[in-house]
Amino acid sequence: MSLELQGMGVSRGVAIGRAHILFRNQPDIREYLVDEDNVEQEVNRLQRATEQAKAQLKEIRESIPANAPTDVSSFIDTHILMLQDSSLTKIPMTMIRNRRCNAEWALQLQRDALINVFNEMDDPYLRTRRDDVDHVVNRILRLLDDENAGAQDVNDGRLKGRIIIAEDLTPADTMLMQHQEIGAFVIEHGGATSHTTILARSLGIPAIVGIGSLRRYIQDNELLIIDGETGTLIAGADEASLTEYRQHRSDFQQHIASLNRYKSGPTQTREGKDIILQANADLPEDITAISNTGAQGIGLYRTEFLYMNRTSPPEEEEQLSAYRKVVEGMNNQPVTIRTFDLGADKTVDGGRNLDQATTNPALGLRAIRLCLKQPAMFRTQLRAILRASAFGKIKIMFPMVSTMQELLQAQHLLKQCKFELDQEGLNYDHQIETGAMIEIPASAICAEMFAQKVDFLSIGTNDLIQYTLAIDRIDDHVNYLYDPLHPAVLRLIKMTLDAGKKHNVPVSMCGEMAGDPRFTRLLLALGLDNFSMHPNALLEVKRAIKETDLGLLPLNTLDIMDINDPYDAELFLDEINNAVH
Ligand code: PEP
Ligand code: MG
Repeated sequence: MSLELQGMGVSRGVAIGRAHILFRNQPDIREYLVDEDNVEQEVNRLQRATEQAKAQLKEIRESIPANAPTDVSSFIDTHILMLQDSSLTKIPMTMIRNRRCNAEWALQLQRDALINVFNEMDDPYLRTRRDDVDHVVNRILRLLDDENAGAQDVNDGRLKGRIIIAEDLTPADTMLMQHQEIGAFVIEHGGATSHTTILARSLGIPAIVGIGSLRRYIQDNELLIIDGETGTLIAGADEASLTEYRQHRSDFQQHIASLNRYKSGPTQTREGKDIILQANADLPEDITAISNTGAQGIGLYRTEFLYMNRTSPPEEEEQLSAYRKVVEGMNNQPVTIRTFDLGADKTVDGGRNLDQATTNPALGLRAIRLCLKQPAMFRTQLRAILRASAFGKIKIMFPMVSTMQELLQAQHLLKQCKFELDQEGLNYDHQIETGAMIEIPASAICAEMFAQKVDFLSIGTNDLIQYTLAIDRIDDHVNYLYDPLHPAVLRLIKMTLDAGKKHNVPVSMCGEMAGDPRFTRLLLALGLDNFSMHPNALLEVKRAIKETDLGLLPLNTLDIMDINDPYDAELFLDEINNAVH
């Protein structure tokens, strides 16, 4: 019998493959007393699981791809070291012997004791180490719980074509998986614009989020069908469904191939208005995909991935070489490098003072706030970006700016870095442009003020929608409220575009909304003429632009900003999109 589950399709494409249930964050913990005679057996059981956990980690460490950020392995090393420490190799065993508690119980008690010690530390970085304790202990608990858990790891090299089923994936997990030719992702949590989802889209991997309790229904190795567009997952499909979805898969592949004819040629509306189409890059590997789409440069280069899965932030030289590679790979096309937007769901060990336990991470020490709080780390990045600007056209963009002071402070630090480089005789582009992301309602409302202090603005709709509608972008309980057509969102976008026009400052859009062809015509009508998106969306958006004649849009198109019913707004959007040109 087949089972059909519905989630939110967040990355298009059809996959047919076997399930790989990735991990259980909360292993079942049974607590019981062990018979006197079985104590040594229980100790052995725990020792075996601890050894196995260590062996798994060593295997993962060895299989880390050579081109992964250089410090990825040190993240794993920390966990290996913990597994060699007496706090895990001796104390829980002593507890079993003294108290006759079972292995899981002993481990749990020891975890609580260790976490309490970390909680009492003043240093926020050390406090974040309790997450490591949790990860390591959970790994052992899973092994105790399930002899087969050894096969369940992110980086085990056997994931080709598999459908990854997980409670949650961090962007860091996803990054570790990027080389493994995963078939699809299905995640119990998450939203359309969570960073993990964005990454899946940029990797061109079909993905569904928000199917709660999924792992209760799906068996490891079960054959699944995934439709990343409709958000449908089918388990135990009959032959007819398999045939139908194989057909969908091949139609989708053909559809993608049919877009190839848009690769070359200018991006213009029917009446000849030039539109700039750029790509977003999340990983250095994206450059190949980007050059294949004919993008006119990179409108958003996210640099967070350089900082993740490692224990210390990247040095200037490492960053310089990463940025240089990107700008040289883009053959003189401009590259907008965004300074690190760490915090919220992109936690990092490199952000040492980042207190990851904050109650509202999205409202906390994130992006430019963290940059300014960590001036040394920020300056290292600014110096590296400046130095890379000697090798091609680079622009600098500051994320999540909410006050003018933040912008001025960031610009002041940049000036200092330029001065230092001048002193050191190091080359950089003295005319380098700086811009601010408009992704907080406050800055959209005050876009005119920001426009007067920058060379360009870029609208980040993912955060702008999150903050305007007060919906956490990674919380699946509220993702039904995510609505780019909400009149408040559309008005803020329009306000920002108008501010740019008034002050003659270019405004682009680099949030996910820019890459959704359903919104292309509307955004053109609002006055947007520079779109930046994940490369997989570029050709479809280009087609939508080429099929639009702005003069033929319904005269009342902008009245959509007055529609307060989401259903009516969708209907009106269809009308705009179906207006025959
Ligand atoms: C955005 O918020 O729209 C954006 C492009 O930035 P990020 O998704 O990295 O937060
Ligand atoms: Mg953002």
